[in-house]
Amino acid sequence: MADKGKKKKSKKPPDPGEELMAKIVSLAKRRSFVFQSSEIYGGLKSCYDYGPLGVELKRNIKEEWWRSTVLSREDVVGLDASIIMHPKVWEASGHVGGFSDPLVDCKECKNRFRADILEPSPEGDTRCPDCGGELTQPRQFNLMFRTHLGSVEDDASTVYLRPETAQAMFVDFATVQAAGRLKLPFGIAQIGKAFRNEIVVEHFTYRSCEFEQMELEYFVEPGADEKWYDYWRKTRLEWYSSLGARAESLRLRDHTKDELAHYARACTDVEYKYPWGWGELEGIANRTDYDLKQHAQSSGKRLTYFDTQTNKHIVPFVIEPSAGVDRSALMFLIDAYHEEPPPEGKKEGRVVLRLHPRLAPIKVAVLPLVRKDGMPEIAREIVKEFWRHSVNAFYDEKDSVGRRYRRQDEAGTPYCITVDGQTKEDETVTIRERDSMKQDRIKVAEAVEVVRERLVGPAKP
Ligand code: ATP
Repeated sequence: MADKGKKKKSKKPPDPGEELMAKIVSLAKRRSFVFQSSEIYGGLKSCYDYGPLGVELKRNIKEEWWRSTVLSREDVVGLDASIIMHPKVWEASGHVGGFSDPLVDCKECKNRFRADILEPSPEGDTRCPDCGGELTQPRQFNLMFRTHLGSVEDDASTVYLRPETAQAMFVDFATVQAAGRLKLPFGIAQIGKAFRNEIVVEHFTYRSCEFEQMELEYFVEPGADEKWYDYWRKTRLEWYSSLGARAESLRLRDHTKDELAHYARACTDVEYKYPWGWGELEGIANRTDYDLKQHAQSSGKRLTYFDTQTNKHIVPFVIEPSAGVDRSALMFLIDAYHEEPPPEGKKEGRVVLRLHPRLAPIKVAVLPLVRKDGMPEIAREIVKEFWRHSVNAFYDEKDSVGRRYRRQDEAGTPYCITVDGQTKEDETVTIRERDSMKQDRIKVAEAVEVVRERLVGPAKP
């Protein structure tokens, strides 16, 4: 029979990176970590919603960052600034004038691309990567989302959704410093949403238009900047590995001179080896005294630090570690994803998310072996005991216990506690560890203590 209508199968071998990403995207949706926004309306390409497991993962990442950057240090304080700031902030920071990408359109298929990342053909001309059509001349496209404050939509009411959280730390520098009588070196940290009208949205949540940042502006004496720049490079790289990310998949990449912003003295990216290649997780920059000076000049207000030893006002230098919550969440999901083959004599393998216990959305699942003989009641009491101690526990009685274990493996839950026939006799339960699948018997009364001890214990080697 003729097969005219059939498409020819591509000979191209499947790309392992793409295959892995497809599995992660599918798991993320199936288990409700993260999925496209507004799906019932066909989805919005660059925006994502975090479901019940994803929201906990993100909260845990932010909590770990806040704990290590703010709460465990004497020299850093927090801030939660407004997303909409005075429009002059963005003029002074350079975002109105310079925060743009060169954009080209295909004259044939009308698709839009960033001119700076298109590859020229071997002949040296650059054409549409989708259809080979001719491209327009590049024009600058500002990445800031604009809106209007108040009921009148004119130029005077134009405001922007912040494209980074950092500027608030410069603008509020003097107020925060004076209130806390902070001495150099000190930092102001903030976690919050940022918005960029990215032309190319790519690699799932890696590049989206609405995302969260975790940023620290660390103010230091001029001259001490190089020392603190080195310190934050090391500290921030270690943070990722202390939360279980594989060291061989992380690296620091120093920017070359021509990559540096004109005001930056040095910049390093913490990069991760994503399935599509190395990509930025976080940028660490020595921004000199540029931002404080810009805002002082633009606002006419003094943004200096009074050095009581020399009786002089100085403009501090700033080191900025700037990380993305969404890129971290995606990285931890990818890094934790493991497919294990079936053990000998068994048919089924398993998918397990080896998330660090501190990041795992659910810390412990409590399972009655069967739905009778008082087991559900005991299990529910154990769950409540965990909740009383602020440990996120989950009760599950659906399907066989083996299937319930698999479900928790896929959700990254580090421990499962099973209530069985023996529990009533000697007040013990089994505790199963996710990665080794090893099971121990422990006393019900000790369950909270045992799990909490393991949760705060040393990070994975
Ligand atoms: P890239 O070069 O990948 O566009 P960038 O250098 O513009 O990133 P920064 O301005 O340094 O990024 O922002 C700091 C961090 O904020 C980044 O390391 C990243 O984790 C996060 N981030 C920036 N843009 C996005 C985005 N569009 N989507 C998700 N996260 C982002």
